[in-house]
Amino acid sequence: MMSEAPVDWDSLTFSMTETDFMYIAKTAIDAPWTPGEMMPYGNISISPAAGVINYGQGLFEGMKAYRTNAGRVVLFRPEENARRMQRGADRLKMPPVPESIFIDAVEQCVQQNARWIPPMGKGALYVRPLLNGSGPVLGVAPAPEYTFMIYVTPVGPYFKGGMSCINLLISDEHHRAAPGGSGGVKAIGNYAPGMMPSKNAKAAGYAEVIYLDAEEHKYVEEVGAANFFCLKDGVLYTPELTGTILPGITRDSIIHLARHMGYEVVEKKVEAEFAMSAEEAFCCGTAAVISPIGSITLGDKTATYSDGVTPGELTLKLYNALTNIQNEIDEDTFGWVHPVPGLE
Ligand SMILES: *Cc1c(COP(=O)(O)O)cnc(C)c1O
Repeated sequence: MMSEAPVDWDSLTFSMTETDFMYIAKTAIDAPWTPGEMMPYGNISISPAAGVINYGQGLFEGMKAYRTNAGRVVLFRPEENARRMQRGADRLKMPPVPESIFIDAVEQCVQQNARWIPPMGKGALYVRPLLNGSGPVLGVAPAPEYTFMIYVTPVGPYFKGGMSCINLLISDEHHRAAPGGSGGVKAIGNYAPGMMPSKNAKAAGYAEVIYLDAEEHKYVEEVGAANFFCLKDGVLYTPELTGTILPGITRDSIIHLARHMGYEVVEKKVEAEFAMSAEEAFCCGTAAVISPIGSITLGDKTATYSDGVTPGELTLKLYNALTNIQNEIDEDTFGWVHPVPGLE
């Protein structure tokens, strides 16, 4: 039995804490994947000519394992992360990792790092799968060797002391993704270009930027690295998946939940102006689940939702419905919760 993890559970944030073990599997470009192995967490060595560090041939995933009300450790829809990484692998010309190898690897990482899973309500074990071209390649072409790797780190709850509304700035200068590009997959290269606009927005007092589409500069695409929703006249709207928007698993879950609650949910292009005239708005992703939006600024116009600090009624309802399923407080009618073997 391992000793208790050296973590102060009450001061956890969304940041990196090294844990005990990581998973690594490798394959040659034309060989099938075979299961990898667990090894002590630590630095890896890589060729300076690796495809991933020269040409960005890499993908990441993000998911959480947490202790629930039922006294066990669960993952949330991990099959969806596996499938999304397969779609990304196709796009970046990498060999897709079979779903069974992916799930088995995630489970092993959670099992072997179980002492790092925060107590219920104190956060989660964040699981970070990576797939990249690790073999050397000089010309712009797929690498000869691929590495599938997973590390985990404990993270705190996103909101401490209740949900708080965020203020957002619409970017009129930068775009996250263009039609035909890689915005619809979790390609590592999609994220660094967002750091400068995001830093600038933060320096100006906003929590994050909202990106508009790169063609017409008119439609809301995403909030930083989170999906967008708004409620207008009792109908819930979210940008449709046109290839430039990342198909979030939280997004998909919210669409199902809202429809199940009897709401009409419309996936279509959402004009910035329309979003700014809505009654409620929020963004969503694995890290925060749901972040209520207090205001959106575009140029010299600011739209404030309700009083700007109180989360909307439906926003709260969806947050509670989703987290109650995740925490096994409510019945998992959709079959989304995936118990980790051995931690039940
Ligand atoms: C990961 C991600 C999301 C959220 O996806 P989830 O599966 O809900 O965590 C949304 N947008 C972008 C750009 C992302 O990278």
